[in-house]
Amino acid sequence: MKVLGWSDDDALCMQVRKEAGEHGDEFQVDRSGQPDADPSTIAAAMAAVVQEHGIDVVLLGASKLGKDVAPRLAAHLDWPYAAEVQSIEAGADGLTVQRMVLSGNSMATYTVGKNAVLTATPGTFEAEDDVGGTELALSGEASTVQVVETRGTADHSFDLSSADYVVGVGRGFKAQEDIALAEALAGKLPGGAVGCSRPVAADLKWLGEEHWMGLSGHEIKPKVYFAAGVSGQIQHVAGIRGSKIIVAVNTNKDAPIFQVADYGIVGDLYKVLPKLTELL
Ligand SMILES: Cc1cc2nc3c(=O)[nH]c(=O)nc-3n(C[C@H](O)[C@H](O)[C@H](O)COP(=O)(O)OP(=O)(O)OC[C@H]3O[C@@H](n4cnc5c(N)ncnc54)[C@H](O)[C@@H]3O)c2cc1C
Repeated sequence: MKVLGWSDDDALCMQVRKEAGEHGDEFQVDRSGQPDADPSTIAAAMAAVVQEHGIDVVLLGASKLGKDVAPRLAAHLDWPYAAEVQSIEAGADGLTVQRMVLSGNSMATYTVGKNAVLTATPGTFEAEDDVGGTELALSGEASTVQVVETRGTADHSFDLSSADYVVGVGRGFKAQEDIALAEALAGKLPGGAVGCSRPVAADLKWLGEEHWMGLSGHEIKPKVYFAAGVSGQIQHVAGIRGSKIIVAVNTNKDAPIFQVADYGIVGDLYKVLPKLTELL
């Protein structure tokens, strides 16, 4: 089986390429000929390469760009598309993939046949430094979209999904400046970052979208997630349930976050966070 693995995110690229290599001959693409191409142009060029080289399966990293390219590519090839798969198995009837459904409450298994376009989020598969493989150049055709202006909305250099430790800020914080408590704790942890629930980013606008975790925000898989003043609604949990350890701090002992937490502290975040920071 020939499997093409690619992502515009370097770390994620190594993960999908390694996984691609687990299932057969691994191919990757070189996009240096089309540096500013839009997702439609990339998908069309990738489809041409896939057909030319008889690639069986494409596994893309589920970065912003990857999520945009993947379904377009599947449409070009007329192949099934499975987004954000958790596992891939190859059998006599083709591929079987698993992906989370119902906000992460269930796992669904799909048989997708011998050809498919798949995506995987960061941390789903392990990376290897040098995976080898064959590099295929994408054609340098002009982009079909002309960028007339770029306006910054979020800090794109900030990457919550690759943080090892995440301190989550919820509505339990009373004021924007109190987020300094979460930043202080995150600052004590190597690879620490501050994330937040939707209302903190979308309604209060205390933090940018790049910090937003959940169903409609980022999915994280850190070593430890500290949920502070976060109630743990299903849409929030959908984005954090991949964390290896979840520690919750909440004044309400019945808060749903305690149902998914490995360690729960029933207490006031204004007292608990400074204490944890001090201990670290
Ligand atoms: C379609 C849809 C998509 C959504 N997507 C997302 C998403 O991607 N991400 C997301 O987060 N939400 C999402 N939501 C919103 C979600 O349903 C919740 O409303 C949201 O997660 C609640 O945020 P919160 O936990 O910060 O606030 P709240 O639910 O208000 O919880 C605040 C918590 O803080 C605790 N608290 C208060 N004071 C303190 C204190 N001093 N110390 C400690 N604890 C304290 C309270 O007991 C409470 O549990 C979505 C909703 C919908 C309908």
